[in-house]
Amino acid sequence: MSVLPIRKLGDPVLRETCREVDVFDDLLRRVYQDMLETMYNAPGVGLAAPQIGLSLRLFVYDANDGTGPGAVVNPVLSDLEAEQVDEEGCLSIPGLWYVTPRAMRVRVTGRDLRGDPVSIVGEGLLARILQHETDHVNGILFIDRLPEEDRRRAMAEIRDRDLGAARPGRRRLEPGT
Ligand code: ZN
Repeated sequence: MSVLPIRKLGDPVLRETCREVDVFDDLLRRVYQDMLETMYNAPGVGLAAPQIGLSLRLFVYDANDGTGPGAVVNPVLSDLEAEQVDEEGCLSIPGLWYVTPRAMRVRVTGRDLRGDPVSIVGEGLLARILQHETDHVNGILFIDRLPEEDRRRAMAEIRDRDLGAARPGRRRLEPGT
């Protein structure tokens, strides 16, 4: 297993619509292990394949709620219910945290690493992770989900600093995704 470099905002792979996974082999399971190790090392609670430079519809997650870790291949969201408002960050935009609206409950369906169908219902943090990571495989970042004014502030903050270098006072210890 290896810890892989995490792609940062500005890398075009983060803006691609990733392609479906149709081969469920040992290579896919090795990618899964590397993604898990990279996520835990960061540390983070979710990581999508484009964040390690692979334009594939795959993510890993561990909400530290006893249900993870796990992977979802070719994820599709449904049954979005209610709303939650909490700070969100991204391992590809280090040091930036913004209150981001998300559904409180969500279902994600897709495949597991063997190609068998999976269906996961998440609430709270897990729901937030499932939405954040499914966005990643569609080339969407959490800053795209911010209200217009916050998005402008976030973009200004990103422009004002070098990518990867958090501003003093903006650092948080909570894991990102
Ligand atoms: Zn992210």
